[in-house]
Amino acid sequence: MSKLSVRDLDVSGKRVLVRVDFNVPTEEREGHLHITDDTRIRESLPTISALRERGAKVILMAHFGRPKGKVNPKYSLRTVADHLHTLINHPVIFSHDVIGVVPEKIISHMHNGDVVLLENVRFHAEEEANDPVFAQALAKLGDVYVNDAFGAAHRAHASTAGIARFAGQSAMGLLMEKELQYLEGELASPAKPFLVILGGSKVSDKIGVIKSLMEKANVFLIGGAMAYTFFRALGIPTGNSRVEADKVDLAHELLALAKEKGVRFLLPVDNLETQEISATATPQPTKINGGVTDGFEAVDIGPETIALYSSEIAKAKTILWNGPVGIFELAPFAKGTRALAEALAANTEAVTIIGGGDSVTAVKQFGLADKMTFISTGGGASLELLEGKTLPGVAALSENA
Ligand code: ADP
Ligand code: MG
Repeated sequence: MSKLSVRDLDVSGKRVLVRVDFNVPTEEREGHLHITDDTRIRESLPTISALRERGAKVILMAHFGRPKGKVNPKYSLRTVADHLHTLINHPVIFSHDVIGVVPEKIISHMHNGDVVLLENVRFHAEEEANDPVFAQALAKLGDVYVNDAFGAAHRAHASTAGIARFAGQSAMGLLMEKELQYLEGELASPAKPFLVILGGSKVSDKIGVIKSLMEKANVFLIGGAMAYTFFRALGIPTGNSRVEADKVDLAHELLALAKEKGVRFLLPVDNLETQEISATATPQPTKINGGVTDGFEAVDIGPETIALYSSEIAKAKTILWNGPVGIFELAPFAKGTRALAEALAANTEAVTIIGGGDSVTAVKQFGLADKMTFISTGGGASLELLEGKTLPGVAALSENA
C-alpha cells in the first residue's frame, strides 16, 4: 500500500481534519430524527479514538443525504453529533457552519482530544462540484487531512479529494486502510479456489465487476434477477422474470469469456417462482433446468441450486459476495440468500468478504455479520474498487515515501 496512513502522522497538538462517512439511515418518529443503523459511525470510531488518544484536535467533516447544495435542516448532522457524543463519551462540539468564522472560532478554542463536527458539507454546492476555493477553505481548518470515508471515496468532491491538494499532509484513516486491505490487497492474489457470488437486480450494474474478476476467479455463482438475462441468452424460459433485453448480447459475451478463460460460471439450476410479489406469497420451485413458467416470476434460487452453490462455497478458500440472490426483503423469497450466508459462515477456513449495500444488509439481517471475515461499509465504492478502478478519494492522498 503506497498511501500515507494516519498511523504514520505526528498528530499531537495538531488540528486533524477527518472526512468520515456519517451518511447513516434515519427515520422520523414523533417529530425527531432517529438513526436506524449507526454502523458507519461506529466504524469511524477507531480512527477518532486513536487520534484523540494521540493528542489531536479532531475536526470531523461529513455529508448526510442529498440536500443538493442548499441549507436544509432536514439534512443537518446535529443528530449525528449527539449520537457520537454518547458513543465516545466525550462532548462533540457542533459547528452549524461548514467553513468561515464560526468553525474557525470554535476550533481556535479546542483542546487536545476534543472533537468538533462540522455541519453537512453538501449544504454547499461547491462540495459536489469539487470547487477549489471551497476545498481550500476546508483545508484551512486543519493542519493535516485524513480520509476515512471509504463509502464516499469513489466521489471526487471537495471534502473527499479536492482538499488534499491544500492540506499539509493527507492520509488514509484506519477504516479506509482496512477496506483497501480486504477489497484490494486480499483480492490481489487470493487463496484459491477463489469463488465469487454475484446477484442483485441488474447485470448492467455488475458488468465491470464480472469482467475484472474474470481474470482471477475460479468460480462464479450467479443469482438474483441478473441470472435471468443469462437464461434468456441461453434460450431458457424466463416467464415474467426481470430480464434486461438490451444486455442479452452482453450476457452471451460474458458466457463466452468465461469459457475462454476456463472460469466456471454457474447459473441457477432451479428457481422459486411466484405470481404474487408479497410477504404472504408461497413461491414454488421450478423444474431443474426447466426455466421459469409462463406468467410466473423467479424471485429466488431453488433448493437444488442452494445445494449446488453451498457445496461450491464449502470448497472455496476465498469468497467474495456482491448482490443478494433473491428478493430477500420479503421473507418468502429470502431462503436462498440466507442459505448462502449460512454456507459462508460455515466455511471457517475461507476468507469471506461481503461488498455491496444490499448484500451487507441481508447478512446483518440474518445475524451472520460477525461470522464473515470482512464486511465493507461502501456500496458504490466497493463496486468500483472491485472493477479495478482507482478511487479519487484514495488517489488524492499523499504517497508514503
Ligand atoms: P448490492 O446492493 O448488494 O450490490 P444490488 O443493489 O445489485 O445488490 O441488488 C439488490 C436488489 O436485488 C435487492 O433489492 C433484491 O430485492 C433484488 N433482487 C434480487 N433477486 C431478485 C429477483 N430474482 N428479482 C427481482 N429483484 C431481485
Ligand atoms: Mg444495492
